[in-house]
Amino acid sequence: MRWKIATAVLLAAGLIATPGAAQAAHPAPSLTALTNTAPINTALTDTAPTDLISARPSPAEVGRALARIAKASDGRVRLGVIGRSNEGRPLRLATVGHGRTRLLYVTQQHGDEPLGTPAAVRALWALGVPNTPWHRWLGSQVTLDVVVQANPDGAVRNQRFNHDPGASGDYAEPGVGYDINRFHNPLTPIEDNPVPESRAVLRHWHATHPRVVIDYHMQGRYLQPDGRETTASLLWPTSPLAPSAAVTASRRLAVRDYDAMTGLAGANVTRYPGGDYEGIARNAYGILGSASLLVELSDLPAEQVEFQIRTAYLSMIATAQGAADGSLWRADPARADTVPERGPALPGAASTLLRADAA
Ligand SMILES: [Zn+2]
Repeated sequence: MRWKIATAVLLAAGLIATPGAAQAAHPAPSLTALTNTAPINTALTDTAPTDLISARPSPAEVGRALARIAKASDGRVRLGVIGRSNEGRPLRLATVGHGRTRLLYVTQQHGDEPLGTPAAVRALWALGVPNTPWHRWLGSQVTLDVVVQANPDGAVRNQRFNHDPGASGDYAEPGVGYDINRFHNPLTPIEDNPVPESRAVLRHWHATHPRVVIDYHMQGRYLQPDGRETTASLLWPTSPLAPSAAVTASRRLAVRDYDAMTGLAGANVTRYPGGDYEGIARNAYGILGSASLLVELSDLPAEQVEFQIRTAYLSMIATAQGAADGSLWRADPARADTVPERGPALPGAASTLLRADAA
């Protein structure tokens, strides 16, 4: 255990390289810049067993991993279901902590964008299984809800859409299903929303009013303005309907996560070129008043999958800690404008995720 703590401190300080860091050599911000006050906690160590979850888990594997976490945590990680997919699969919710500040992470709304799911499962282990004074403090400050693999029907088909062969209209693929991440429109009465996965997340939002919502996706392969390869992108709400206070809070969240992903994970991060449509979760939960963020992991080659999972994992851990100690809300929102714009697609990169505005 002690080596893990030492490793975490060194990793946090940027003193030893992580796999992928050589590819993504990026100057790390100081710890002080990252957290404002608190040193990064040893919970940043990924303590999950290596056989807990694969990179592209089936819904059944997700269910087994979460059950294992619930048991290993002596119930500190609680499991629930927020609804059912069109094929009747459970839409799984895992919760850790009991503090007043509520956080909501959503993974894999697009079934062919899996890596947020193993990152979330490992974060739930790291935050929920150890029972140190730090963990008890964190749990007293925040309640973290994770909708793990929000599109299980799409996951089993490795497809973007949900499974609804009768889907029609905007943001539907006839014979296939709906794009779940276009059906969070808070202006649409929930009972008129044709997408059960979106309805379930919306209803959960209204039941819990999370202060923070982060939605984890994947994108194709792109270059930074400086020519390095982008490994992740992020974006806050851009809908003109989002209240300015929520946009400012979202930009603070973006800055915090940018620092965690670049400084701790060694990621190359750009601003995602997303649209203003209010049905996109990033916009919808900003309109409703949450600090809302989209995180997009690039679809990198197999040898960098672990690096990508770790990027999302560190985003999840740093957000939870920043919400718990308040440092999240002291980040400078103006720094969001300094996140570089995403550059062109990587020449020759074959990816099913190379789509304009695919979030
Ligand atoms: Zn997506």
